[in-house]
Amino acid sequence: MSERWREDALCRQTDPNLFHPAPGCSPAPAKRTCMACPVRPECLDYALDTRQHWGVWGGLDQNELRRLNRARRAQAA
Ligand code: SF4
Repeated sequence: MSERWREDALCRQTDPNLFHPAPGCSPAPAKRTCMACPVRPECLDYALDTRQHWGVWGGLDQNELRRLNRARRAQAA
């Protein structure tokens, strides 16, 4: 899978720590950035395909990613 989409990632222009918030810290600032990111679909696909379980990817936090991954696996079964 090509990862050229990363070149256009909006998070490259921000503080990377925002996308891996410490426990108890809000993922909202990162999620807001994702909503304006031109490669959000590609990022989300990558996160799901590679089972990223930590941080914000494609506008979803780790709990949302886990839920979506579970739903995808259930659909595939
Ligand atoms: S969707 Fe969010 S995490 Fe993904 S590349 Fe864009 S800004 Fe970064």
